[in-house]
Amino acid sequence: MANEDFGRNRPLGFSTRAIHLGYDPSTAQGALTPPIYLTSTYAFESAEDGAALFRGEKQGYIYGRTKNPTQTLLEQRLASLEGGEAGLVVSSGIGAITATCWTLLSAGDEVVFDQTLYGSTYAFLTKGLQRFGVKAVPADMTNLAMVEEALTPNTKIVFFESPANPNLRVIDIAKVAEIAHGRKALVMVDNTFCSPALQNPLAFGADLVVHSATKFLGGHGDLLGGAVIGRAELINQIRGVGLRWLTGATISPINAFLILRGLKTLEIRMQRHSQSARAVAELLASHPAVATISYPGLADFPYKEIAARQMRDTGGLIALELKGGHDAGLKLMNRLKLITRAVSLGDAETLIQHPASMTHAAYPPEERTKHGISEGLVRMSVGLENVDDILDDLTQALDGVR
Ligand SMILES: *Cc1c(COP(=O)(O)O)cnc(C)c1O
Repeated sequence: MANEDFGRNRPLGFSTRAIHLGYDPSTAQGALTPPIYLTSTYAFESAEDGAALFRGEKQGYIYGRTKNPTQTLLEQRLASLEGGEAGLVVSSGIGAITATCWTLLSAGDEVVFDQTLYGSTYAFLTKGLQRFGVKAVPADMTNLAMVEEALTPNTKIVFFESPANPNLRVIDIAKVAEIAHGRKALVMVDNTFCSPALQNPLAFGADLVVHSATKFLGGHGDLLGGAVIGRAELINQIRGVGLRWLTGATISPINAFLILRGLKTLEIRMQRHSQSARAVAELLASHPAVATISYPGLADFPYKEIAARQMRDTGGLIALELKGGHDAGLKLMNRLKLITRAVSLGDAETLIQHPASMTHAAYPPEERTKHGISEGLVRMSVGLENVDDILDDLTQALDGVR
């Protein structure tokens, strides 16, 4: 079996597991690539057998809302890559976050969240959960004293992104986890910006890791998907309650297959994303039209030390602001010819967008400023094109903005 260590005394490497783990071609007529199980339901051997499956006394497949063999393989690989016991994949990143929160929270509970979150996650916590009696409390988690202050005996979940979307603030996962665990709260980290190739939040004490698999995990801009990884006991609960009853956010077997395909090149893609983004960040840092730039690979990045401790590489996302502010940012976007104006991230294409009017438009304007997402901020996801072509396009666009 491919998930053994082939008799060696060391665990298989990241890409080897991403390519082989959990699948043996001899179980599928020798097919090199795992089959896609396009089925909504499963035949029971007998009526008694079906009843035993429903009672949980027998392991197996019942109905496609909760699991499918293609999905199971993806869950095993993601759990291994994140260093978790178990994984669950669902139809979108927001599906993963909502299924997890609906499962673990009840009216009267509180969630403490970092002040900078992806727009729809922020909307779910502050506009969605609040309507059902769950209090969502923002905190600047780069300031540990503020985390302490925000926690109460009712806090069940501490939630943050690191690096945060869109401005790349970095949160100290181990320190926040220590504080949260001291107060019996679970720590949930959105690891979308790094993917497991660059960062494993569970290793720093997080209880649950969530992903928008739409981004780097899929990696090709052709699907939506989400994942949550953690202890089997929590994941089973989220599958049985959050997915099965509360959201129905089931992933299509075809999308699970496409994410499995994406995982095979994840490590190598993240290396290229990081390498090219470093070159783009250096160009931006030296250009007279640029006022500020936030990128973990730059010497003056304010969270450089924590980022270096938590992340294996510097990643593909860059946030910048031009000296001409909001209007110059939009002008830059409109002058680009190769770099594509689009939301999302982690694709082969280099993408650029304006968070205040796009991904983070769900924040009321005054909240946005308070949460560190300025009106002039522009976010780039550096793609896999030849870096010289990215740099040329950016240079011609920036030169015209001055
Ligand atoms: C895109 C994104 C999400 C939401 O994921 P979907 O797959 O679009 O539902 C959540 N968190 C972060 C950090 C994201 O970038």
